[in-house]
Amino acid sequence: MLSVSEARERILVNILPVESQTVSLHRAAGRVLACDISAETDLPLFDNSSVDGFALNAADLNYPRTLNVVADIRAGDYSEIPIQPEQAARIMTGAPIPPGTEAVVMVEDTDFNLRTPGTPAPNTVTIHKSVRPGENIRRRGDDLHCGDEVLSAGMRLRAQEIGLLAMLGAAKVAVYRQPRFALLSSGDELLPVGAPLTPGKIHESNSYALAALAEAAGVKLIQLGVAADNEADVRSRLERAVEAKADVIVSSAGVSEGAFDFVKAVIEEDGELDFWKINMRPGKPLAFGKYRGIPFFGLPGNPVSAFVCFEVFVKPALEKLGGLVIRPRPHQMARLAEALESDGRESYLRAVISQENDRLVARLTGHQGSGNIFSLVRANALLIVPSGVKSLLANSDVEIWPIE
Ligand code: AMP
Ligand code: MG
Repeated sequence: MLSVSEARERILVNILPVESQTVSLHRAAGRVLACDISAETDLPLFDNSSVDGFALNAADLNYPRTLNVVADIRAGDYSEIPIQPEQAARIMTGAPIPPGTEAVVMVEDTDFNLRTPGTPAPNTVTIHKSVRPGENIRRRGDDLHCGDEVLSAGMRLRAQEIGLLAMLGAAKVAVYRQPRFALLSSGDELLPVGAPLTPGKIHESNSYALAALAEAAGVKLIQLGVAADNEADVRSRLERAVEAKADVIVSSAGVSEGAFDFVKAVIEEDGELDFWKINMRPGKPLAFGKYRGIPFFGLPGNPVSAFVCFEVFVKPALEKLGGLVIRPRPHQMARLAEALESDGRESYLRAVISQENDRLVARLTGHQGSGNIFSLVRANALLIVPSGVKSLLANSDVEIWPIE
């Protein structure tokens, strides 16, 4: 049986990033940047005032002084009138600093106390407070310089990157296309949510939980529905993924050794099955391969196993597919509150992590059966027991993965 890390590597070598496309900046939030971005201007673009006030000549920085107001500069104006000693310019926040000035005094530190919008500039102003050279001036290039590399390919664009791109004047941006993600469930026992249950049937839930995980990872979802336990139905739904040009297919259930596990059978016949067993708990029957050239994941059917296998294997694959630079998951350690037993497989257990004094403490959320979704609902982390370990003492250090 493959180890978790071997399986992950074998998956990732079979995944290639999708191509890029150009989108308007309005639609770029949450998308993955496809090229490096260098600044084509300085930011700020020009020296400007950080306050509403009066721009002063270097000779007039100390109070008290009364100065002649010879210019009135609003945001968006550009004044070329040089400010001489004993002169000042009224200036608004964001307006360019006029030639000849060395600092700006805030309006609150002058005798000009008319605050009604539209009030014209006074003829003279008396300053009540000294200012240092450069005070209240935002210098051109303080934030970044023309030519600086400011963003790199493979990052997901957050609000702050979108704001920066807008300030740099980028109306369009190259991003990776959203991967098309086809999702299939299978099992004769599954009824749609909302349908009345009949004896022996359960509500189908994996397509909801896995769709939520996939959409959070930024894909375009193609729902293939629920296949009945027979080859023909599984095959015809997989063919829909091919027609829809899916970049990846994820199915749940039907990949273990039951008499009705047809998903694995179809992949073996019409595709290529790379592996289907991993030394892991939960999630031993995990299939990976290709269906008509499309990377295919056959996750276990049990809801917790499907969730954990998505986190461990599908998520990094979607990151690579979507062009993200893959970084190892942030590594966190916690102290185990109570002793636990494991079976020697690499285990991903549901746990609650809490901060106690100066340490993170991990507690399991009750029964760890792979169908017990409520134990997952109560968890805020997966606790990892390494392979080969059969028991851990209370107070051991354990690795955890926070889950949102
Ligand atoms: P299987 O892999 O088909 O043997 O399924 C394993 C377990 O997971 C069974 O108890 C199934 O009823 C359950 N299961 C499979 N698929 C789903 C699904 N889409 N939603 C909820 N439970 C499922
Ligand atoms: Mg089944």
